[in-house]
Amino acid sequence: MATIAENIQEQHERIAAACAQAGRAVQSVTLLVVSKTQPPAAIAEAFAAGEHRFGENYVQEGLDKIAALSAINTPRGQLEWHLIGPLQSNKTRPVAENFDWVHSVDRLKTAQRLAEQRPAELPPLNICLQVNISGEASKSGLLPGEVAALALAVSALPRLCLRGLMAIPEPAADFESQRRPHRALASLLAELNQSLGLTMDTLSMGMSADLEAAIAEGATLVRIGTAIFGARNYT
Ligand SMILES: *Cc1c(COP(=O)(O)O)cnc(C)c1O
Repeated sequence: MATIAENIQEQHERIAAACAQAGRAVQSVTLLVVSKTQPPAAIAEAFAAGEHRFGENYVQEGLDKIAALSAINTPRGQLEWHLIGPLQSNKTRPVAENFDWVHSVDRLKTAQRLAEQRPAELPPLNICLQVNISGEASKSGLLPGEVAALALAVSALPRLCLRGLMAIPEPAADFESQRRPHRALASLLAELNQSLGLTMDTLSMGMSADLEAAIAEGATLVRIGTAIFGARNYT
């Protein structure tokens, strides 16, 4: 079985190949290592292999790992923690106090609480709005037509930095079908920047199965779990 370090190397090669194919600079795409369900030791292994950005889905699980790994602080910097799973508005305080990014904001109430609760001594909390780009009935996220109003409201809140949009498109097998929702998210971001005068710079899209399609359509941050750590064990 390949090691975590070997898998990470392979993901960087995939990213580089997709960037070359798209005529993009490899530095224009950030790898977020999705560490949900993985123990702190696996995260430490990814850190040793050069990664320092980690994505967690569940608030309490993320907080436990942030605490467990708080001693990691080398010349390469501190770990950067991204919440990528759903956030209820009654759980915002520890998120505002401990995470660096939240990718899953889809309600003004949640954003307002994060803004109120972000400690003044920390840099602004980076925010992406989650968009239900495939229009699936059961998915969290804003419908595309709802994003402008929330983007404007969030951009006006203190202690937050509105960075961009995030989506988890419906899985699709072929490359063209994978590209479609990513293209829609990229167009939405460009359109909102233009019409609202915003400067969002982050398209958080692309996972283990579709990172090439996401990069072809302009992803700036890909969120990769399975291809690095193997299949997740939820027990
Ligand atoms: C689990 C998860 C990922 C990673 O998915 P993989 O298919 O394991 O790469 C990315 N984004 C979100 C929001 C997730 O929940």
